Amino acid sequence: MANKIFKSILAVALIVLVATVVFTVDELYQSFYRSQIDVLEAETGVIAYGIDKEGLSFLDDLDETDYRITIINPQGTVIYDNSGNDIAAMDNHLDRQEVSDALESDFGFSNRESSTLFERFIYTAMRLKSGDIVRLSSTYPSIYQVIKNLIEPLSIVILGIFMISFPFAYHLTKRIVEPLNQIDVDDPDDVNCYKEIKPVLKKLTDQRKLINKDREILLQKKQEFETITQNMNEGMVLMNTEGVVIDINKAAADLLNIDQDMLGGYISDCTYFDRFSDLIEDAQNRHRSEKRVRIKDKNYDLEISPVLVEDMISGYVILIFDESYKEANENMRKEFASNVSHELKTPLQTISGYAELLKDGLVKKEDRQSFYDKIYSEAQRMIGLVVDVIKVSHLDDEESSIRKENVDLGQLVDQVVEQIAMEADKGISVEAHTCEAYVYGNIELLESIIYNLCENAIAYNKENGRVDVTVSSDDKHVYLEVSDTGIGIDEAYHERIFERFYRIDKARSKQVGGTGLGLSIVKHSCILNNATIDLKSKPGEGSTFTVTFNKA
Ligand code: ADP
Repeated sequence: MANKIFKSILAVALIVLVATVVFTVDELYQSFYRSQIDVLEAETGVIAYGIDKEGLSFLDDLDETDYRITIINPQGTVIYDNSGNDIAAMDNHLDRQEVSDALESDFGFSNRESSTLFERFIYTAMRLKSGDIVRLSSTYPSIYQVIKNLIEPLSIVILGIFMISFPFAYHLTKRIVEPLNQIDVDDPDDVNCYKEIKPVLKKLTDQRKLINKDREILLQKKQEFETITQNMNEGMVLMNTEGVVIDINKAAADLLNIDQDMLGGYISDCTYFDRFSDLIEDAQNRHRSEKRVRIKDKNYDLEISPVLVEDMISGYVILIFDESYKEANENMRKEFASNVSHELKTPLQTISGYAELLKDGLVKKEDRQSFYDKIYSEAQRMIGLVVDVIKVSHLDDEESSIRKENVDLGQLVDQVVEQIAMEADKGISVEAHTCEAYVYGNIELLESIIYNLCENAIAYNKENGRVDVTVSSDDKHVYLEVSDTGIGIDEAYHERIFERFYRIDKARSKQVGGTGLGLSIVKHSCILNNATIDLKSKPGEGSTFTVTFNKA
């Protein structure tokens, strides 16, 4: 822009200069020309007067003159000429404009080009009293001659002025452009600039605000979309009509072995493409199609739909649903049902066997009490198992409907420990070390976490052992720690003990009245209360279970 302004100023200066020179030269030339005619006319009058008075001898007495003087008779014949040319050889002059005008109206004038471009002739003619015509002519430089003469000095003047204009134009340009350069593109309105461009700057500011707002909305929408798609368990791939991947979420990228940062690659380059390439062909024919494919030893339902914009296919979306967890759930349900029936079958068989022997009178009188005790304890185990199974199935169902509130975990631990300490046998002491610490959770589930952990800590403890239940907190979290001096757990089982019906030592579990469901209830209850559970334990060194809650 500065360059353009600079050039424009120079161009204007040059045009003005040239126009001024042309106009001035033309004016001067015209005025020179007019004065030439006036002088010639006056001279002609003087000479005509002299001839009228003294005859042709007046011309002889004339000093040397710059004018060519010709006398022509009314028939057009030249009777006198001071040019030195042979007058007899001269043409008839009646056809000359000035001569014919003078014959008609006593005075004539004409202007003719010379044989060269650089000179012109002017003629003035007057009729003498004798009827003859006296004509004076003189030459004057043509405009071309004038220009030719002026070219050199004028060029020097123009060059000089041009050179003076150069810094002037440079500074002027700088001054014009400076306020524009001061415009802050981030805040165009905040500048003292030309008032003529203020409305433009205001419009710019308004548009900028509008664009920023739209950009923020778009970004927010993009982030929302990304948050949703990136956290989806289902895989999602967006590709254009050429099969170039334009968006892919983490689940799909992991599954199809596509690097998420390498967008822009072809879907056909991904591993397993051959397993669903036929679906893409269907989608190209505008059909939504799906099929079950096996990837990395799991079953997935893969669905491809064309994306239609104004009835034209603009791309395709691939959705990948992990079906294996449904199968796993189904398997888990079946396994759970068979475990439950198996666990119930054993005590039932024992009860039924003992009852049958008693019924048939096959038990000696002195042995009967131990049979009754056995039947009672097996029945109690069955009740315990049924209670736990009901709890587990409630936990499965209640996921979305549990009622939560702010609960003082310290107080709750005190209550549970007070009750459980009374039931503890083998000389085991149970102690609570608590403080006020609120968590947002379901009180029944929290109670079952504390209860089950304490129950295990007692059940798998040594004689005269200790159980310490501690509640503590920091800025963000509340911690429940149940540690015992019991048999400890080998690291190989740290994960597995949270599975349903998993017991390290079945016989011991049975002996302590365990069902194998306690820790799975704890784990599930932790999840439903947004808590995590950790275990630190080594065989023979006791165990510490730590549950971490978010502070309410
Ligand atoms: P159970 O009803 O058998 O106690 P749980 O699910 O509560 O079932 O526990 C699973 C298994 O984990 C138990 O059978 C036991 O082997 C082990 N276990 C649980 N808590 C402890 C503990 N505090 N010390 C040692 N082993 C434990």
